[in-house]
Amino acid sequence: MNEQKLNPTLMEYIIALLNIPSAEPGPKEGTEAEAPDINPQSAKIACQMIRFMDEMPGGFFIYHADDTEEIIYANKAMQRIFMCDTYEDFQELTGNTFKGIVYPEDLEDVEKSIWEQISHSKYDLDYVEYRIMRKDGSIRWVEDYGHFIHSEAFGDIFYVFVGDATEKKKRHLSEQTVLLRENTMREEQLKNLIAEYNKERKQINQEHLRRLEVIEGLSVNYESILYADLDTDRIMPYRLSYRTAHQFDEIHQIRSFKWYASDYIKTWVHPEDCKRVYKSTSPSYIREKLSESKTYYLNYRIVNKKDTQYIQLRIVNVGNKDHISQIVMGYRRVDDEIRREMEQKQMLEEALNSANLAIVAKNSFLSNMSHDMRTPLNAILGYTLLAKKHIFDKTALLGYLDKIEASSGQLLDLIGKALEISWMESNDVRVAEGECNLRTLMQEIYRDIFPQAFEKNISLSLDFSHVKHCDIYCDHDKLKQVLVHLAGNAVKYTQNDGNVDIIITELEKLPNNYASYQFVVKDTGIGISKDFIDHIFEPFEREKNTTFSGIHGTGLGLTIAKNLTEMMGGNIKVDSSPGNGSAFSFILRFRLQDVPLQPSGNAANTIAQLMNHKILLVEDNEINMEIESEILEGLGFLVDTAENGLAAVEKIKRSAPEEYGLVLMDIQMPIMDGRQATKIIRGLDTPALAHIPIVALSANAFESDKRLSIESGMDAHLTKPIDVPLLLETISRILQTHKVLFNDSL
Ligand code: ADP
Repeated sequence: MNEQKLNPTLMEYIIALLNIPSAEPGPKEGTEAEAPDINPQSAKIACQMIRFMDEMPGGFFIYHADDTEEIIYANKAMQRIFMCDTYEDFQELTGNTFKGIVYPEDLEDVEKSIWEQISHSKYDLDYVEYRIMRKDGSIRWVEDYGHFIHSEAFGDIFYVFVGDATEKKKRHLSEQTVLLRENTMREEQLKNLIAEYNKERKQINQEHLRRLEVIEGLSVNYESILYADLDTDRIMPYRLSYRTAHQFDEIHQIRSFKWYASDYIKTWVHPEDCKRVYKSTSPSYIREKLSESKTYYLNYRIVNKKDTQYIQLRIVNVGNKDHISQIVMGYRRVDDEIRREMEQKQMLEEALNSANLAIVAKNSFLSNMSHDMRTPLNAILGYTLLAKKHIFDKTALLGYLDKIEASSGQLLDLIGKALEISWMESNDVRVAEGECNLRTLMQEIYRDIFPQAFEKNISLSLDFSHVKHCDIYCDHDKLKQVLVHLAGNAVKYTQNDGNVDIIITELEKLPNNYASYQFVVKDTGIGISKDFIDHIFEPFEREKNTTFSGIHGTGLGLTIAKNLTEMMGGNIKVDSSPGNGSAFSFILRFRLQDVPLQPSGNAANTIAQLMNHKILLVEDNEINMEIESEILEGLGFLVDTAENGLAAVEKIKRSAPEEYGLVLMDIQMPIMDGRQATKIIRGLDTPALAHIPIVALSANAFESDKRLSIESGMDAHLTKPIDVPLLLETISRILQTHKVLFNDSL
């Protein structure tokens, strides 16, 4: 507390005067202040001061700065402030203490504030505001300017100037309220701004997160990621895989987006895909595509050290939806996927094609079928009518019936083949594997085809001289069916006096006791045009020249033959040209039987050597003679004939020793039968002639017949019709034993 005193003397005078009982206003009771010596001059000033204080417009009071806080003096204005009529009223209202002046709720803070201010003030001054309660109970605000002084005579005192501050306070309060309101508003605005900012920030963060997620999402499936901004024309790698990094120069640097086209595409993209990739990665195209959907793909090839790789590029919009600029480009190699896709696509395309083809084929099959059926049916109906009309004309009737029979045969053939095809298509037709002897098979084929060949004077020959293993496992019926079809066609499409050869060649022995065989059916017929060869296996296809020529056919035989061959694992090939004959061939592989009954190599040689000699065929029946000669000549033998036993004996007698290698002798013949003739020949003087191999060729197949033949001196007894393989086998066996006699010339 500052001990400095401001005009103490005057204040002390004033206080002293105030304490003089006679003085106005009177001093407090019990105050025992020791009055200073007052000189008259000072007393006069003090009195003037008191009067002045009394009349001051503002409140003024003096009180003891001790616990009592007793008021020493309060001017009239104080009475007014408290709405007291008299000083006594004021004293009663306030208890004549400073404590009584201050509104009780404010007192503690006010006293504390005063003493704090005084302790810090250089001049012991303080300023406080507080409420007071007036006599009428109303509350007013006052401002209090206090000054602490210490008097030697009267102790510590405060003198205080008080003014009514209610209006000022109100003003202040309203100003504060306004300010507060403004502040609150401003605070509110600020809060709103912050909230908006936070919201935006959150959105931005979310957007960033979304982009990151997109990029990271891409990173999972795509090896390399590039980020590009089309607006600012820049592109930069975000992540590069070791496999593709070199394509992007391995540098994580920002480039112009133009680099992509000028460098990347130009260097890496397959020339055939370049144009497409240029177009699909141009900024305008990207913008257009990404305005339609968030992402799009592009598949293309790149050339990496001459190796073609399939790449999938995925472009994703990671920026604004309405303004496409920020994009991410993901790359990954999709070689396997694309390859699989391409294979699948091809498979689907093939399936579709074959489905379409199947529909077309079925339709044309049905329309061809109905057309082809109508022709013989019309003939049957027409000739039936004619037959009825000429029922009493036997010759004409027979002619019509013949024609009806032929047309019915054609119809039957057609229906049979059509059924066979549809059966093959709709059933799970399996290839059976049974024991089969190729020689026997050939013989059967020969037998089937021979009558037609004979009718046209076509030389039909079999050649299986290059077959080492005849005993095989195969589907006998299917193989026969194919060969009969081919050989039948060969005869059908070959003019009279032509040649048809059926040749089997064993190509190679395969592991696991398998061997492959080539089957060739060759003719010297009309041949086939190059254009038609492409369609020859399609159902109902017939070349014009064959239809115009009136040769009956269905156009189904080769379809069946081809299907069957394929089932057995082969593929029919055609080699032909118009006028130069045709050769149909296919190769099949068969499992060999364990104990093949093959003629030995010597036997094959023997037969080959026999071909240098004549065979004397002794036969009285002209037709048989022709057929048998045909067969033998077809096999490559030179044939001479004799119409009975006697003629045969004559020819042998007249022959040179090695002129004939074999006699095939019929048994029952006019003039001289076969056995008689044999006996005569065996009795000839020239050993080479007497021991000539003689084989009976008879319609009789009883054991007794065989025995009689052998007893007559024959080497073997075979039955008609000629079983070519058996004949060859027999010949070879006999010739082997006669070798010595022929001086090894056979
Ligand atoms: P088809 O003989 O009953 O007409 P195919 O399916 O067997 O039916 O033969 C189809 C067509 O192929 C024949 O009509 C004919 O034009 C031609 N073709 C078949 N084999 C021969 C062949 N050996 N020589 C000439 N043309 C042939």
